[in-house]
Amino acid sequence: MRLYLRYKVIVIFILALFAAGCAAKAPYLRLDSSLEGDIRVYNDLQYVPLVRLCDTYKIDCKWDSYIRTAIISKSGRIILRAGSDRILVNGNDRKLSGAVIFTNGAVFVPVSFVRNYLGLIVGAEPIEKVHKIPAYRPSGRYMIKTIVIDPGHGGRDAGAVGKKLRLKEKYLNLNLSKKLKNILEEHGIKVIMTRESDVFIPLQDRVRMANSSGADLFISIHANASRSRAMNGFECYYLSEATDDNARATEAFENASFEADEGAIAVEHPKGLDKTLWDMRLTENRRESAELATQICSAVEKNIVTRNRGTKTARFYVLKWTTIPSALVETGYISNKFEELKFKDEAYIDRFAEVIAKGILSYKDKYERTEGFTQ
Ligand SMILES: [Zn+2]
Repeated sequence: MRLYLRYKVIVIFILALFAAGCAAKAPYLRLDSSLEGDIRVYNDLQYVPLVRLCDTYKIDCKWDSYIRTAIISKSGRIILRAGSDRILVNGNDRKLSGAVIFTNGAVFVPVSFVRNYLGLIVGAEPIEKVHKIPAYRPSGRYMIKTIVIDPGHGGRDAGAVGKKLRLKEKYLNLNLSKKLKNILEEHGIKVIMTRESDVFIPLQDRVRMANSSGADLFISIHANASRSRAMNGFECYYLSEATDDNARATEAFENASFEADEGAIAVEHPKGLDKTLWDMRLTENRRESAELATQICSAVEKNIVTRNRGTKTARFYVLKWTTIPSALVETGYISNKFEELKFKDEAYIDRFAEVIAKGILSYKDKYERTEGFTQ
């Protein structure tokens, strides 16, 4: 009996050892000795300057002073925000032993951050060979499989209306979106539409569909209108915080017209999601969204005879609240009689859908090839 008990204790001990080994998920990275002189103590905790870590381990480091957020990337990506102990490591939220500190123009992170998380993006070999941990491999994680297409307006909300032929934006958006859907499906992409008929869908529901569908991208299709009948051309938007006076003025202008157009209602960030994490997720998507908008814009530029008004940033409701990379396409100004006439031509819409698809596919290709632009 006593022997049995001892045997039981040994088994538990071995199991505990095994569990301890499994718990050490991060490739353990030791602080490089050249950094020891940079250590500072804040709140009884040892910190190192982030910029020195990035130099030492050859990590790409970007700091957005407007939202006090750092994105560091190599084989993976970590997002940190000044004043917060929550970080996003390859999209997963993790907790630091102390908050990120921003002081005298420099960002400091706890030394334990190096040990626990940095190895996950510099692909360091685990020091403890006893428990062989497979190297971090992001392959397969960076795939665009599902796209949400959002035909703007619908039902009682007609959107912009053409002055000459009374073409309603809601029909044009749906028509073009359906064609875009067919092309993307031919390329093996699963497409989810926020509406497939002439129905009114509130903006919140469109956002909810995008966020809960497990999709990888969100594309909203619109057509523009202006008081100036001469105004024409194509625009592609992504969400960004305004960073200078000029951008801020543009944003205010675009938001005002959008709110009048779409009747946007401000909502709080989703319940249960930490405010900082929510902001960080938006930051993470921003770079992808900018790239997506740029790819679509350049495809249109190369393939369609229309004035390219360029890639722009604004805080549109559907871009602001989607948690996946998103872009909003303004295909043209239907308030301009020449553009309205073009949009009455089915062949022109076919061509437009093809070209938008081309832009999306070249984004997809680049994203997958560079594993989320980290290479
Ligand atoms: Zn619209």
